[in-house]
Amino acid sequence: MFEHELAELADQHLLRRLRLVESATGPLVTIAGRQAILMASNDYLGLAAHRRLKQAATEAIARYGVGAGASRLVSGTLPPHRDLEAALARFKGTEAALTFGSGYLVNLGLIPALAGPGDLILADRLCHASLLDGCRLSGAEFRVYRHGDLAHLDQLLSRRPARRAVLIVTDGVFSMDGDLAPLPGLLDLAERYEARLLVDDAHGTGVMGKEGRGTAEHFGVEARLPVQMGTLGKALGAAGAYVAGPGSLIEYLVNRARSFIYTTAPPPAIAAAAVAALEVVEREPARRARLWANRARLHGGLAALGFTLGPSESPIIPVLVGEAEPALALAERLWEHGVLAPAIRPPTVPKGTSRIRLTITSEHSPEQIARVLDAFAAAGREMGLIPG
Ligand SMILES: *Cc1c(COP(=O)(O)O)cnc(C)c1O
Repeated sequence: MFEHELAELADQHLLRRLRLVESATGPLVTIAGRQAILMASNDYLGLAAHRRLKQAATEAIARYGVGAGASRLVSGTLPPHRDLEAALARFKGTEAALTFGSGYLVNLGLIPALAGPGDLILADRLCHASLLDGCRLSGAEFRVYRHGDLAHLDQLLSRRPARRAVLIVTDGVFSMDGDLAPLPGLLDLAERYEARLLVDDAHGTGVMGKEGRGTAEHFGVEARLPVQMGTLGKALGAAGAYVAGPGSLIEYLVNRARSFIYTTAPPPAIAAAAVAALEVVEREPARRARLWANRARLHGGLAALGFTLGPSESPIIPVLVGEAEPALALAERLWEHGVLAPAIRPPTVPKGTSRIRLTITSEHSPEQIARVLDAFAAAGREMGLIPG
């Protein structure tokens, strides 16, 4: 039925296929019966298969069953949901928090609550797709500023039509480049022009900041940032996502965010696991220390080999290749060397910036990182990407 469209994608080296991972996620996974080092998971702190999360989830299943049975506003709000939202508000230091089924759903529900027809949204050009979809859905006028470019944003803000509410939208940690939004400068502009700033901290939560509270903690600007969203399926090892902010915003979202209202409540066991994850994040800072040490080891090793790395300042490290075809070929060679590190191609990244996107976790061992570097050295030389 769609053979023609699929053939076209394949011709452009843009066809994507699902890959079956046959084991729990972790530094080592089984794929097609073979063991490989996984360099693609966002489970930065190794919590997805952590004993305490599994225990919290199984206890919650024993008590509350598997499905919540209805949407949150009908009869789907169970004690784990309440406990998770209280724990998130405490963790983020806000009045309240609200959880959604996923980060994608937060952005579809939250952005239309913050901006509507007649308002203006200014978004970083490399924002995550879910933010862009939320912007479109809001009905607000929507423009992008050059990636991380405060001068360009300033220009757009200074030319905004009078009496228009403005919302600035950015990732905290950019998901494909691993660099950080310049939050202090963005806040200066937001405050100067009386605009709102929404930071999507999907990759910052649990990772950035001394206590893992996110990119705002990293920059020391938490008190200036009233609304934050982040996800529970990446460093927190569970699933779902949250908005943390003033109580009136949370109550408004309960009444107005369609992606919160018109969907079945997330399984209580997943909420219970996320509560356990927050406890691990707070009680085991050594995981974050290992994560950053591993990140330095991998980034330093790749740079020494001569690869072109993006502007990464996080555990997301892009190895830039350029066109889609050689990026795919490099991923294929890495796979032959026992390393799973997928090629990221358009439309996920701009044309001409296809790359291998690596993510490192606290659980990778120094030996595994050395094996990854050996695989990159061999594959990079075979393909002439680095000096021989
Ligand atoms: C992963 C991601 C999301 C989506 O979160 P899910 O919970 O996976 O739906 C949103 N924003 C950014 C920046 C992300 O990286």
